[in-house]
Amino acid sequence: LGGDKDRFLASAGRSNRRGKKSEIFAREIVRRIGEAGFTEGAMLPNEQEMIEAFGVGRPTLREALRLLESRGVVEIRSGRYGGPVVRKPTAADLGHTLTLMLHLDGATVKDVFDARLAIEPLIIKEAAANGAADLLGELEGAIAETRSASSDEVARTGSIRFHVLAAQMCPNPVLLLVQDTLRSICDTAFEGVGYPGELRERDAIEHEAILQALRSRNPEKAERAARRHLERASGYWAVNYPTLLGRAVDWSA
Ligand SMILES: [Zn+2]
Repeated sequence: LGGDKDRFLASAGRSNRRGKKSEIFAREIVRRIGEAGFTEGAMLPNEQEMIEAFGVGRPTLREALRLLESRGVVEIRSGRYGGPVVRKPTAADLGHTLTLMLHLDGATVKDVFDARLAIEPLIIKEAAANGAADLLGELEGAIAETRSASSDEVARTGSIRFHVLAAQMCPNPVLLLVQDTLRSICDTAFEGVGYPGELRERDAIEHEAILQALRSRNPEKAERAARRHLERASGYWAVNYPTLLGRAVDWSA
């Protein structure tokens, strides 16, 4: 796996020096990861090598690595061939942090869903205008998965996959990350809730309308179809699961 270990250890650049020692060093590691070309799955030099090369104490190094681990940037593998491995943070990592903040702010699941409703149609619009077409087949597969599923859980996985893939067509990584984070918080909140056949079919039909607009590269139509779908879903939740929607976002759950 890529990455130049010597370059990582020898790098002479400097990161922002403000903050706690471990934070400064965490930034330093991130800068070196970028510079040395380390990508997801690459092993970083081991603890001893880093301590020697950077002249930091073991506690500082460990705290820095833990900080990066909590941000999803590295994973500390245990065992004989263990050590710090580079990871790519996902929307779920950001989701955990955002969930913690929203928990403390007293935000509700409905607040999150409303934010998603504001942003997702724009993403679908952007996907229809500028997205690559290579995910269209998978989108179709996700709809089929919802329809043919033998359990609520599998059907919901198909529906979630549709939204994940459709957003992935959007070439703007910022919009995609924000949407994916909001979506993952919503999906977590609705985990284990029933997904009856009638609702699956409703969703499948509306997903098809979105897919068709994506396929025909009609941004306005795609945006409208996405908005209509999410508004209808929001209305369905409001009528059928009012307490779930009004529930506070719960980081401790
Ligand atoms: Zn949907």
